[in-house]
Amino acid sequence: MNVGPWRREFDVALTAVRDGALLAREIRRHSPETSFLKPDQSPVTVADFAVQALVAHRLRSAFPDHPIVAEEDSAALRAPTGQHVLESVLAAVRRILPALDAGGVLDLIDRGRAAPSERFWTLDPVDGTQGFVRGDQYVVALALIVRGEVAVGVIGCPALPPTDGRASQIGWIACAVRGCGASAVSLAKEAFSPLRVSGRCDPRAARVLRSFEAAHIDLARFNAIVEAVGVQTPPVLMDSQAKHAVIAAGAADLLIRVPAARAYRDKIWDQAAGSLIIQEAGGHVTDLNGVPLDFGVGRLLTGNEGVIASNGRLHDAVLDAIQSVTIRP
Ligand code: AMP
Ligand code: MG
Repeated sequence: MNVGPWRREFDVALTAVRDGALLAREIRRHSPETSFLKPDQSPVTVADFAVQALVAHRLRSAFPDHPIVAEEDSAALRAPTGQHVLESVLAAVRRILPALDAGGVLDLIDRGRAAPSERFWTLDPVDGTQGFVRGDQYVVALALIVRGEVAVGVIGCPALPPTDGRASQIGWIACAVRGCGASAVSLAKEAFSPLRVSGRCDPRAARVLRSFEAAHIDLARFNAIVEAVGVQTPPVLMDSQAKHAVIAAGAADLLIRVPAARAYRDKIWDQAAGSLIIQEAGGHVTDLNGVPLDFGVGRLLTGNEGVIASNGRLHDAVLDAIQSVTIRP
């Protein structure tokens, strides 16, 4: 795959995501149901912490001075009530990095606490934790942000079936480098094959994806938009940036993310890798108002409301539909 000036960053990111995705898959096989609530009431699992430690280790080895902005931190594991979880995390990471001790794992997890800067990595070790726990889709998502733009994006999808026979088994990686296109590669290291969005232009035939978790979306507004677009087929519900991989592969045409609360702002690690992969596969990504996603304003997409990702051809139909169903004061 052509990766322009980002050969080393791309290779390291791909290896880190592949190792992280295989570790997450292994953890789910052995202890699928173990999740805990964070102070904000969102779930976290041994896999979230273990994958964050492993990916942070891979990045630190290659780029010791690169900041990482990641979803998890070690606070819950350092509390007395978190000791048994820490033991499970340590056992999981040690299968790959046997020399690590508990202090080393906690420090690796906390490498994800860096502030966004001119050039940094952003990581969601398990995007779609609820899907992970439910036995559905989840991904490991890693992106390199340079001056507010995504330069490299890699999504490891351990549970995603092949979309068109381009991967031989369940579990593949979608990746992209800005200006160089997007590719798919299996978790088992087969050859890269190019990703290309669909050519569908008829909104009535559009295949739409949305979050599985109804709590993440304003269902009434989502339904109104889909109806105004004229879509005939019910949306497919899917957790995480697996949705982005499916759009990039041309197996769906539209992803519409209408947050439940008008003031909700997405986290950068929930969109960075996926948005680049869709764009490099020939698609288009904006917020609900048609504004490009701005990854240069902090840990949140402060300047953007929701997300529309499409094959490009259907994008304006969705933006028009949003205007038509939005009641302005
Ligand atoms: P998805 O499966 O597409 O809904 O994406 C999962 C991501 O949704 C998680 O990584 C969370 O960061 C994010 N999330 C959590 N709560 C909310 C919420 N209330 N509204 C929108 N997104 C949320
Ligand atoms: Mg997450």
